[in-house]
This record gives sequence, C-alpha cells and structure tokens, in this order.
Amino acid sequence: MILGKCPYCKANVVAIKSTANGKKVNLYTCENAKKEYDDSDQFVFTSDSTCTFRVYSNVFLRWNKRSFSKYEMKKLLEDEQVIIRLHGRRGTSEYFKYVITDKEYGVSILWDEEVENEKETFS
Ligand SMILES: [Zn+2]
Repeated sequence: MILGKCPYCKANVVAIKSTANGKKVNLYTCENAKKEYDDSDQFVFTSDSTCTFRVYSNVFLRWNKRSFSKYEMKKLLEDEQVIIRLHGRRGTSEYFKYVITDKEYGVSILWDEEVENEKETFS
C-alpha cells in the first residue's frame, strides 16, 4: 500500500506488515530504504539503499500511543506535519502534539509547539 512520497528522495513510501518484539506492527518505509541482517547479525541498510526514511507504527509507544496509523502517516507525508494524540502515564490525561518527519529518526515530536485547534482537527 502506497502512502505517499518520501520527503527526502520522492520515492514511494509504502506500508508493510512487520513485527517488533513479537508484536505485529506496520512499517512505513521509503522504497529506497531497505534493511537486512549483515554477517554479524547487525540490522543495517542494504548496500543499494539510498535513503533512510523508515518509521514503525509503534514509534510513539513511550508516550502511550499504541499505533501511528497509516492515515496519520499519509497525512504527515501530504502536509509535512500531523497532529497526534498522546496519553499521560496512567492513560488519563491526553494531549496533542505536532509530528514532523526527521531524517535521522523518521519522525519527531515538536515538544515546544502548542496545538491550539485539536478539537477542530478531530471533529
Ligand atoms: Zn526516501
């Protein structure tokens, strides 16, 4: 499934099924960013990879967001940013933050930026 264009090399970003720590996750990856296990079992980019844009759907698990959805990824690629909903430690308080693409980490949260119109966004 093609979600959009890579912000760095303009190739297709596709969603593929993967696993992380035994759990099923989606991997959103630029078609030019492929990884494999090398001889010493390191998970590295293949020699023909020309890009590094890869994001796992559980990327925001630390902030109690279980899954970064295909829809959210698609919107991020279209608008260069997307608003996501994060949760406090006990799942009580929720808050909203902007996410942008990041060349090194795939995506990053703009912690200093306040989201003012989250109601509009989610209505
Ligand atoms: Zn790319």
